[in-house]
Amino acid sequence: MKILKGIVLSFNKNPFFNNIEDSVNIVEDGGILINDGIIEEVNNFSAIKNKYPLAKIYDYGKYLITAGFIDCHMHYPQTGIISSFGKRLIDWLNEYTFPEEKKFIDPEYASKIASLTLDLCLQNGTTTVSSFCTSSPTSVNQFFEEANKREMCVVAGKTCMDRNAPEFLLDTVNSSYDESKKLIEKWHNTNRLVYAISPRFAPTSTPEQLECLGNLWSEHPDCIMQTHLSEQLEEINWVKQLYPKAENYLSVYEKFNLVRENSIFGHCIHLSEKELEILEERNSSVAHCPTSNLFIGSGVFNLRSFNEKKIKVGLATDTGGGTFFSMLRTMSETYKVSQLSKFSIHAAQLLWLATMGSSASLNLENKIGNIEKNYCADLNIINLSSTKEIEQRKNQSNNIWEAIFPTLIMGDDRAIVSTWVNGNEVKV
Ligand SMILES: [Zn+2]
Repeated sequence: MKILKGIVLSFNKNPFFNNIEDSVNIVEDGGILINDGIIEEVNNFSAIKNKYPLAKIYDYGKYLITAGFIDCHMHYPQTGIISSFGKRLIDWLNEYTFPEEKKFIDPEYASKIASLTLDLCLQNGTTTVSSFCTSSPTSVNQFFEEANKREMCVVAGKTCMDRNAPEFLLDTVNSSYDESKKLIEKWHNTNRLVYAISPRFAPTSTPEQLECLGNLWSEHPDCIMQTHLSEQLEEINWVKQLYPKAENYLSVYEKFNLVRENSIFGHCIHLSEKELEILEERNSSVAHCPTSNLFIGSGVFNLRSFNEKKIKVGLATDTGGGTFFSMLRTMSETYKVSQLSKFSIHAAQLLWLATMGSSASLNLENKIGNIEKNYCADLNIINLSSTKEIEQRKNQSNNIWEAIFPTLIMGDDRAIVSTWVNGNEVKV
């Protein structure tokens, strides 16, 4: 048994729909009891220590302890092309992404980048990611193997594309079904791994492929389905040309039974009211990727419009279109993007998006994303004075939220003192 001591922050309710005081529980002299990877008790440190005098103590003093961050949409094969210059979405894919993804038929290269990516995530306090792989099953196998080695909970799947991409990356209707099915049987629910059926997006799949993947999902309904939706205007026009009978972009996916609970759509910048209504009705989720939306020039995500319909929103880096592995940097950009819509996001709400928001978006909200009895012990130890600029601002704070906010806005991996995965410290 282990006891972590520090300032423990956990959620009772969603702070977007309840007042902050009722939503968040902060125990300044807090303790977390962990047994065999699972959180058994959260209380005052002294109360837990008295109850379990033999447990090993990890004293983090005045550091903040939160649930590990969850990045609900990223592309691990794009780690090598992060920060590539000057393209919008479709050119970005052709110029940078597709040539890089070709390399992942080589298990050694796939394993190297998977390992590098997961280590970068952990270094930044991200304990779970949902990643697209490439169209090669090798890319999926190597990613899951590396995640397994680290005892991480990750969501991933083979990216399916049977048109509008280079020949060397294309699969077919049949091979996308067969390969995805084989991967589901091999990996889904093995240890902490979750499979995501992953058509890249409507333009790179024929209607026949989307139909086939809809069928596959109905055979494995507890898998996640992840794809992209309404990222850029050129993309939306392209979808209109490819699917002329579709009422809107989302209805393309809807027609093939790809819109329901356990589906997560990346970006969702330019949605119509009708599309928002469908997402609400179907209890689908959305991945907000602010650094990518700014970097590729996609547009401004309107968080308020999703909140009004209580559509689940998680936070994501979308690396390599996004520019940081850090969820702290991502929270900072989330705040700024939302300011453009005159909607100020409280520190508690930012932390919610990066933990419970993302876990709910991936249907994992009963296992990860909070510090609560029976949750997996995936945790972050955060220094709220990690740089001089942050420290001097924190020293002027009048309450705990003013002490936390500068780290969410100016913090990066230097603020992550230590990360815990499955009840073990993985970085000191
Ligand atoms: Zn993406």
